Amino acid sequence: NVGDERAANIPRYVRVNSCLTTVDEAVKHFASRGFSVGDPLSSKKAYAKDEHVPNLLLFSPSISFQDDPFYQSGKIILQDKASCFPALVLSPLAADESLVIDATAAPGNKTSHLSALMQNKGKLFAFEKDRKRFTTLKMMVAKAGCTNVRPINSDFLTVDPLDLQFAQVTHILLDPSCSGSGIVNRLDHLLEKEDEDDSSEDERLEKLAAFQLVMIKHAMRFPKVNRIVYSTCSVHAIENEGVIKNALNSDECRDGRFRLAPQNEVLPSWPRRGQLNVLDSPGDACSLVRCSPGEDATNGFFVSCFVKAAETSVSKR
Ligand code: SAM
Repeated sequence: NVGDERAANIPRYVRVNSCLTTVDEAVKHFASRGFSVGDPLSSKKAYAKDEHVPNLLLFSPSISFQDDPFYQSGKIILQDKASCFPALVLSPLAADESLVIDATAAPGNKTSHLSALMQNKGKLFAFEKDRKRFTTLKMMVAKAGCTNVRPINSDFLTVDPLDLQFAQVTHILLDPSCSGSGIVNRLDHLLEKEDEDDSSEDERLEKLAAFQLVMIKHAMRFPKVNRIVYSTCSVHAIENEGVIKNALNSDECRDGRFRLAPQNEVLPSWPRRGQLNVLDSPGDACSLVRCSPGEDATNGFFVSCFVKAAETSVSKR
């Protein structure tokens, strides 16, 4: 099974949850369990620090951590490396006045990551329209000690961008439903699986892409938003570069109101960038991040970041 082979090259990623602990404390805990620094793909007792994502540790793919007290108490979160990219690229401020939306939040891995990057300051509105998944989100946020998160059981598309609660929001994370075609391994993603419909694959992808575009355009209507990260765990260009191209050509982007953040703000050292053939310019392709399942030691993933044209120098990564 090709999927299994690719999964075997993906380490078990552990994100240390800085809302509840520190990397030093986690490393001491793992040392007490007999782990030491080394190559996690060669030894079951080795771990390494990730080179792109702060607070992320790599272990052998065969280790589960489900019974680990740090997992059970929310101090560590099992989250694929690529799925840590969106919050990192959104780069919200850790400040009391910070206002951020996670538009499609359950089960809440990226919500808790954003909360940690905000150092539990400001407010993070976490929308989830599905009631059952919303229950999971609330549990996850509480377990992870994210005190700045306000979970809201609503459809993001019904939120009025001019509502006084949200009108000052500056950062929005959009990780909407997608085909999930990039996922080759387990656990953190099993939770993300959503209901499938029974249309053909092409029809399904077209419907998803249309929905994803509507979500981006809605996010662009928030009057103070200056940074929007759109991500998927899909490998299909129609849900990735195709959606970006349509968003850039939409009325919401008219007169260059939003553009893609340049490569130096979007994981500049990550080598795999967007697929040029779908886009209008090589610069746009360089602005985008792709992860190829297995090949990049991650699941398949896509990350993009829109910035309001006049404010590109304000918030940088
Ligand atoms: N960001 C999540 C994480 O990292 O844990 C995963 C999000 S999952 C890919 C997409 C979620 O968006 C699903 O839980 C789905 O129910 C929710 N969703 C889809 N459309 C929505 C909408 N219009 N408003 C709010 N939530 C929505």
